[in-house]
Amino acid sequence: MVIQEAGKHDMEHITTHYINGKFVPSHGQRAMDIVNPATGELIGDGLLADAEDTRAAIGAARNAFDQWAATSVEERRRYLRQLADAIDAHRDELRDVMTTEYGAVAAFSGQVVDAARDWYLQAGDVIGRMEFSEQVNAAEVRRVPVGVAALITPWNGSAWFMAMKSAAALAAGCTVVMKPSENSILQSRAFAKAVDDAGLPPGVINIVYGLGEDAGRELTTHPDVDKISFTGSTPVGKIIAHSAVDTMKRVTLELGGKAPTVILDDAKLDDAVHFALLVWLFNSGQSCTSGARLLIPESRVEDVKTLILDKIGQFKVGPPHDPETMVGPMVTQAHFDRVQSYIRAGVEEGATILTGGEGRPEGLEAGTFARPTVFVNARPDMRIAQEEIFGPVLTVLTYRDDDEAVRIANGTDYGLQAYVLGEPHHARRIASRIRAGRVAVNTLPADSDAPFGGFKQSGVGREFGHYGIDEYLEYATVFSG
Ligand code: NAD
Repeated sequence: MVIQEAGKHDMEHITTHYINGKFVPSHGQRAMDIVNPATGELIGDGLLADAEDTRAAIGAARNAFDQWAATSVEERRRYLRQLADAIDAHRDELRDVMTTEYGAVAAFSGQVVDAARDWYLQAGDVIGRMEFSEQVNAAEVRRVPVGVAALITPWNGSAWFMAMKSAAALAAGCTVVMKPSENSILQSRAFAKAVDDAGLPPGVINIVYGLGEDAGRELTTHPDVDKISFTGSTPVGKIIAHSAVDTMKRVTLELGGKAPTVILDDAKLDDAVHFALLVWLFNSGQSCTSGARLLIPESRVEDVKTLILDKIGQFKVGPPHDPETMVGPMVTQAHFDRVQSYIRAGVEEGATILTGGEGRPEGLEAGTFARPTVFVNARPDMRIAQEEIFGPVLTVLTYRDDDEAVRIANGTDYGLQAYVLGEPHHARRIASRIRAGRVAVNTLPADSDAPFGGFKQSGVGREFGHYGIDEYLEYATVFSG
């Protein structure tokens, strides 16, 4: 491998996985380059886990399971607090690698790391309030951990997903093998260091960095894995559901989205357009909950276009470490190319670019920065209105009345999240007709106790609060004579 000058960051060579409480050398010898997406600079490489590494991690989780499952709620709460403290102690490193490896803008990476800490605290609070046994007539119905859980996560906020899923699984009494995205090796290693410092019993948390086709496949087919919690794309979610069925693993799938932001005719237009741009460009548009379709009354199209053009400049594209930056680079060159191909597809299908377009913004040619692009004159059946792009591309669609707005909002294969803006009673009526796991009316959906998850091809199951912990529990009924 060619090692280049790495600027202010030293080259990182990651050659271990975190298995059974230790950093152990990778059996897998396939290496993956780690590139800073903001500069194109090579900043490290990591050895990817193969099936053997993954089996070792599964074995460690299996061995640790009986003891961990037998811990009291109080003991698990104590360990969860230790994890929260360890995340806090590694806050700066976790933030820094998220910006360097992923290109997350500074404010967002700070929020992600704090939220990662809070997931552990919250899971501890929730199990403190949950009942793990109830009497049903003569039977005792116990809630017992399902077993070893494989947690497979995406790249768009690695620490957040790793913490959110492991907090719920550990709180329920499961042991875990985490397989973060291959695009998050540095972030995952920083996370593993924090986990190591937290001092949990060996084997309770294992982390392997690998590809879906090797490590991922082993996790989804191995008979000693009882549960898979996956967050990622809908096509991969389908592969995982197929692989899991032979050993009847329990499966939670958090998949893609194409969230509509519906601006009603009685909304305050200026505020509504600002909100729409915010929920679209959050996390540089690389978010499953991104408001990637903007639905507006046909009669307001010219006003909305003017407002978008007025406001788009406030969402500065730039280097992610710059505190003024709102939109950073795309995670990889391949993802940048994918976003560009959708911009071309929109033009080929006959939509009009209001702002943005193909290529990189001026002065940011070295990184994978896309230009925030807004399409108008689009139809709901176009690919840019149906498919998840996962980048800063917004499709504006017009409707004539509320029924048509609801039809368009519900007219994709997805149903993860939606936003409705308007007079509160009216907006709530429309919200109740939208088929999505979460609908936010005139606000951001910030509550992490309330369930999160998708309808239709946005997924199966729910996360957050006790709903998330429920996904790692089975009912076991004991009849006594
Ligand atoms: P992805 O589906 O490509 O990969 C997700 C994870 O699955 C990675 O760890 C990857 O290595 C692994 N994987 C890939 N193939 C696999 C296989 N055959 N078996 C087992 N594991 C496999 O997704 P991504 O590109 O990392 O993330 C972006 C996608 O994630 C988007 O579609 C986005 O909507 C979705 N997402 C959903 C949510 C949600 O909560 N619903 C949140 C964030 C991201």
